[in-house]
Amino acid sequence: MDPVRTCVACRARESRSELLRIVLQDGRLIVDDRGVLPGRGAWVHPAVQCLSQAVTRGAFPRALRVSGKPDAGPLENRLKTLMDN
Ligand SMILES: [Zn+2]
Repeated sequence: MDPVRTCVACRARESRSELLRIVLQDGRLIVDDRGVLPGRGAWVHPAVQCLSQAVTRGAFPRALRVSGKPDAGPLENRLKTLMDN
C-alpha cells in the first residue's frame, strides 16, 4: 500500500500517489513529478483549489521549514496549466 501524506492546503490525508510532491531546489519551489528529488517534500493535491491556496498562504515554505520567501514561479506555472485544462 502507498504511504499516506497530508495535503498542506486542505490537510486531508491521501495516498502519496494522489498528491504532488513539492521540494525546494536552489531557492525555488519545484514540482517533483517523479518523486525522486532529494530533501524534504511537501505534499499537495494536484488541484487548482489546493495549489493556489497553498501558494497564497505560504504553506510550502512552512512545511519545508524554509525561512524567507522561496521563488514559487514553477508552482504558479503549474497552476496556470491546471487552470487551462
Ligand atoms: Zn488538498
